[in-house]
Amino acid sequence: MQSPAPTTADSPNKTTAPEPPASRSPEMSSELKMEERFETLDCPTHGPQRVRLFRLFADWAPARCPVCEAEQEQARSDEEAARQIRDTAEHRDRLIRKHLQHAAVPPRFEGKSFAAFTATDSSSAKALATCRSYADRFLDHLRTGTSLILCGNAGTGKTHLACAVADQVIRNHSKAAVYMTAGRAFRKVKDTYRKNSQVSEQDALSAFAAPDLLILDEIGVQYGSDAERNILFEIVNERYEQMKPTVLISNLALPALTEFAGERVIDRLKENGGKLIVFDWKSHRGAA
Ligand SMILES: [Zn+2]
Repeated sequence: MQSPAPTTADSPNKTTAPEPPASRSPEMSSELKMEERFETLDCPTHGPQRVRLFRLFADWAPARCPVCEAEQEQARSDEEAARQIRDTAEHRDRLIRKHLQHAAVPPRFEGKSFAAFTATDSSSAKALATCRSYADRFLDHLRTGTSLILCGNAGTGKTHLACAVADQVIRNHSKAAVYMTAGRAFRKVKDTYRKNSQVSEQDALSAFAAPDLLILDEIGVQYGSDAERNILFEIVNERYEQMKPTVLISNLALPALTEFAGERVIDRLKENGGKLIVFDWKSHRGAA
């Protein structure tokens, strides 16, 4: 912000410029003819103000209240700051809407929040706290590629908590989170094996690395063929190499999940502080 011109530095020597020497060009002498003088004006808002006036050539600049000018300048800069905040907020809102559209969270879990999760014992309370903290600190996890594995009993709220993580990642951090079942992920890759496929297998795998967070649900529902095991490894590895966090969800207990997914997958997800949460309490379904 510009401060008003000083009004007290009165210098009588400067009120009249000396006559230019005759040898100078007309332009130079014009420049040297800038004069200044001081005047007191009565601002209707701020009362008497001592102002410095300038004159270049013939006309004196009109006298303006320095306090009014400073206030107008402040208002302009406030308006500009507000406009920038509005632009940033609008940009963020657009980004959030786009991410929500692409998140592909199943309707049953849309808008599921941490607040709506009912912890029934200390294990489920700990799972809730871990997922909530993971979502809160997602930007750190995005830097380090820190993942989560949620495994254990069906109906214990794994998908609910993962979707709450996705919701916060999108709304609080404006980052992209995508939900997908493993079955659908496998189909997306297998579709590229068809003769007339427009998409290469590598393109399909690379697409899995795009979102900031990928949630892969229902690991272990499939047969677990070598082909599927390889696809799962490629998806996880693609994201691992780009240090992108992944949330893996399975109803299998850890030994069975490790057998299904392969140790390489589990090892990669546990790297850099990746957490495994075992959902070993009774099903919520039917309880409420
Ligand atoms: Zn004024």
